[in-house]
Order: sequence, then C-alpha cells, then structure tokens
Amino acid sequence: MRPASQPRARGAEAEAARHAAIKATLDGLRAREDLRARRGADPVDFVHRYARRADRELVALVSANLAFGNVKAIRMKVADLLGRVGPSPARAADDEARLHAALDGWKHRVFTGEDVARLLVGARRVQREDGSLGAAFARALRDADRTAPSEHEGLREALAAFCDRLRVAGGLPLPGQSKRSDRRGPVNLLSNPRAGGGAKRLLLFLRWMVRPADGIDLGLWPIPARRLLMPVDVHIHKLSNNLGFTKRADVSWRTAVEVTTALARYDAEDPTRYDFSLCHMGMLQRCPSRRDPVRCEGCGVKPVCIRWRGGARASTPPAAATSRKRTA
Ligand code: SF4
Repeated sequence: MRPASQPRARGAEAEAARHAAIKATLDGLRAREDLRARRGADPVDFVHRYARRADRELVALVSANLAFGNVKAIRMKVADLLGRVGPSPARAADDEARLHAALDGWKHRVFTGEDVARLLVGARRVQREDGSLGAAFARALRDADRTAPSEHEGLREALAAFCDRLRVAGGLPLPGQSKRSDRRGPVNLLSNPRAGGGAKRLLLFLRWMVRPADGIDLGLWPIPARRLLMPVDVHIHKLSNNLGFTKRADVSWRTAVEVTTALARYDAEDPTRYDFSLCHMGMLQRCPSRRDPVRCEGCGVKPVCIRWRGGARASTPPAAATSRKRTA
C-alpha cells in the first residue's frame, strides 16, 4: 500500500514547480521589457523630467493622484497642468496666489485647478516643515508602526495620516468633512486608505518614490521596498486573478495585501518589482480573462495563466475585472 504522505508530497512538489514557473515568467517579462520605451507612455515619465528632489516629489504626487481613467487622457492633462505650473513646481507652490491663477480653468474629471493648487501648496508647506515629503512620510510610518497590529496596517495608517497632513496644510477637506452636495474633487484628490479601498494612486506614488532607482522608479525615500503594497488597478487585478494571486473580486486594501503577499514569494525584499511590467503588459494585451487564442497571443504570462491552462473550466472572468474601466 502507498503511504498517505505520497500524494501530499507530490502536491507540494507541483506547488513548488508552479511557483518556480511563475517566478521565471515574471523575471522573463521584466527582462524583456524595454523599460525606457514603456516609461514614455506612463505618467511616471513626467517625474524624470525634473532634476530637483523637491520638484520630483511634487510632480509625482500630482501625476500619480490624477491617474484616473485613460492613460493618454491622463498624460495630456498632466502635461497641460505642469506647463501652466512652470519649470519648478516647488518654487511655483511657494507663491500661492500666482499658482491658483496659473491653474485657473484647468480640469480633469472631477478635479479642478484649484484642487491641485491646494494639494501643491499643502505638500510644499510639509516639505518646508520636514525637509522633504519623504522625511514626513518616514516620520508618519515610524509613528504608525508603534501601535499598528501589522506592517501592512502601519503602512495604511501612515499613508492616511500623511494625506491628512497634506490636506490640512493645503486647505483640502479631511475625509468625512465634506457634505453630500459638495464637489467630489477636493475630497477625492487624495484617497482615504482608512476607508478600505485599494488606494491605488497613493500606492503608485509610494512605489515611484521608494523602489530602488531602475529607470522607472526613483528610490528617493528612506523606506524599505518590502513595505510597499501593489497598486492594484484593473490590469493588475485581472492578471492577479489569472495567476492565482487572489480570488477576490473587489479592488480593496485586502486585495492589495493578498496580491503583494503572493508576489513576495518571488521577491520578498521588493514585491512590487513586477508591477510596472505587469501593468503595461495588461494595458497592451487587453486580457479577456478567458482562453482566447487570438487575444491571448503574445501574452507574457500565458505559460502560467490559470485561464489559459484551464481552458473552458476556468473561463469565467472575475466580475470586478470585467466591469471596471481601463485605467492607467
Ligand atoms: S493568457 Fe489570456 S487570459 Fe491569461 S492573462 Fe494572458 S491574455 Fe489574459
């Protein structure tokens, strides 16, 4: 008779082989990508156009937090906004009246020039008080870590406190302070991680600032990359479902934690390393989340995709992934 432990051992072997295949696929995807060329199609490209750290922080904060909707529209709107602000956003934000005048009439979705001017003025004040946004965030993280039950919760509370500080400094309403009838732009410009959402735009901003400089991310802030969480947009969500990183149908903070925990198996010190490659592949591939020989052609994760390998049995896409718009 076969010992009962043999099937278990075979299951563990198969699991290990699958993880090895996923890691090889993710590393291959990143190695093949022309990062410079793809950066030109990404809002992070704006940040690289500035030399001074203070300007880079402000441009990153604004570009990431306006990353709502179609990536081409985002880039057009951010380019217009930065053109109005002038060569040094930090210097521009020192002159509040002039900045408001320069951004008068600018609009992207629910956000107006006034909302962005308030954000820039608030962020600039925090830069002057703490030396940099990075120093302010590092302080918020140290404070949050003292009482948070986990590192992920520490990150969430630090992000929330950091955003509250920017809001107060710039005159944007705190979450819960605006009335139903108020315009949504001022309160939504910075998301509220305490509310349970995925805070994708804030996590994207953090990735740009924290991950080691690699031509995409800038490595400006003194925070270990292992503390980052994945900014889960519609593309990352679909791919994460298709690779088995999460079964969750929502794009929530819990989903970001699950996806990041899965990716930490492949790089524990830098789990968001694959974010840029996966997101850009998702944008190009327009994944159908089902086995489709035409649309799956050329997909970089096809060898390890559950939908592709499972064929018809795994062909039902997660509800949230199919109902959300394409975003940057
Ligand atoms: S193989 Fe097809 S279903 Fe799977 S991730 Fe790629 S495009 Fe999506």
